[in-house]
Amino acid sequence: MTWFLTCFEKRNQPNHSEKMLSAGYKAGDEVDSKCTKCKMVLAHTILAMVGTKIAKVRCNTCNGAHTYRAPPSASEASAARRRAEKKAIVADAEKLRTTASDFEAIIKGVDASGANPYSATMGLELNQVVEHATFGLGVVTELREGNKAHIAFSDGGRILVYGR
Ligand SMILES: [Zn+2]
Repeated sequence: MTWFLTCFEKRNQPNHSEKMLSAGYKAGDEVDSKCTKCKMVLAHTILAMVGTKIAKVRCNTCNGAHTYRAPPSASEASAARRRAEKKAIVADAEKLRTTASDFEAIIKGVDASGANPYSATMGLELNQVVEHATFGLGVVTELREGNKAHIAFSDGGRILVYGR
């Protein structure tokens, strides 16, 4: 029985490290690479791997295939971090989508025809509609102390000052 356990443990070790490696890149994954045609760091799809290294990629922008060129600051650690950040951004986008549908409901309940351009000096009331130069139409959903207003925009809520 002991020989079996020893053998089993030994056989298990490579599996363990394989699992560690599979956390890295594989063909078909997206990776940032410098594109030789676009001359920019852009999203690429991995075409071929050599061991754990990315060999060939295809530019998602110009569709050109070329050798992988790591972006200037890219290390495996930062790449992993960027993948994690990307996941966080996707999670945020999920949240924003929910907020966007909330916004739809909010904007339907108010009269947006008389929206005034937003400025930090304007007075605000609850449910007032403002037109922000960058964020577009927004609805005041909350007034807070210190002349701060929570305003719902189509891409999420923001705290903006007013009456200053
Ligand atoms: Zn390109």
